[in-house]
Amino acid sequence: MKAVVLFSGGLDSCLVAKIISSQGIEAIALYFKTPFVSGKLYRDPKTGVPQSTEINILKRRAHQSGAELKVFSTGNDYIELIRSPRYGYGTNLNPCIDCKIYFYRCAFEIMKEEDAQFLVTGEVLGQRPMTQSKPILIMMERRAEVEKLVLRPLSAKLLPRTIPEEKGWVRDDMLYDIQGRGRRRQMELAKEFNITDYSSPAGGCLLTDPSFCNRLKDLFDHNITEMNDIHLLKLGRHFRLSENVKLIVGRNQSENRVIGELVEPGDILLEVVGYGSPLCLLRGIGAEAFLKVSAQICKRYSDARNVAKAKIRYWKVDELPTRYFTITKNIPEPELKEKMII
Ligand code: SF4
Repeated sequence: MKAVVLFSGGLDSCLVAKIISSQGIEAIALYFKTPFVSGKLYRDPKTGVPQSTEINILKRRAHQSGAELKVFSTGNDYIELIRSPRYGYGTNLNPCIDCKIYFYRCAFEIMKEEDAQFLVTGEVLGQRPMTQSKPILIMMERRAEVEKLVLRPLSAKLLPRTIPEEKGWVRDDMLYDIQGRGRRRQMELAKEFNITDYSSPAGGCLLTDPSFCNRLKDLFDHNITEMNDIHLLKLGRHFRLSENVKLIVGRNQSENRVIGELVEPGDILLEVVGYGSPLCLLRGIGAEAFLKVSAQICKRYSDARNVAKAKIRYWKVDELPTRYFTITKNIPEPELKEKMII
């Protein structure tokens, strides 16, 4: 017997993976890698794709739950779904119902590929108002065409019976009647099953973070849905200089490093010479026309902010040799604020 567990690395999904694996059922911990997960970024040396360091941690947590981690990388279809969800958004740009239906569907495909018999989630009845009421859970299953195949061990006793329960594939005494937002019973189970390593309940999805969503909305409003642009939203200060051009300014050394790793051909980089400086990335069609204002902004956020004259180095990735600008006037604060995407 094999089951695919939708796995985030949080307490509930760690618990249900353990509940399943400890009954002798092979558990595949399926993690959905989306560009909307917080965490440090680096460029994978083999694939060149930005990655979050979380994967190693998730492997460890899956192992602790007796499951094997499998990573599913979401693609442009997922971004499109975030951009125009059928069931609308939560408080921010989080279209949780559409997102869950998408996850169920993909998990069902993996279930068939892996010759597994059912799906498992850590969902708890009433824990989240948007997606975890009984009618919504049932509706999402129907839309994803996985009716009666999704076992939710933590609330199974309060929900309609599923195929794995009807067929006796899972032990009845390992199904629970937990509901609501409290975590007391999950903590007790964690002790019982010796689950100590899991992520905090608040962490995770940037689609619930208002300032990230402002930046994302700006991208969507300008018809940009590239993964690389979305990854860049997680760092730096962002300035919209025109319909097509944006400037991203690193806030510290580690952001400068990641910005340097996320550059693409055609991007222009700028930094102040001889002072502590942000690395600034200028991107978009016709970006050259915004070099001067970018140099001003670069100076504004460098250690040369209060000096009368500063030299700014700039170069186009893969093309131009390094050139220089001299900036003698600071950019006026109102103009700076007007361009900034909060
Ligand atoms: S919080 Fe984020 S990842 Fe979770 S269901 Fe909602 S949109 Fe999807």
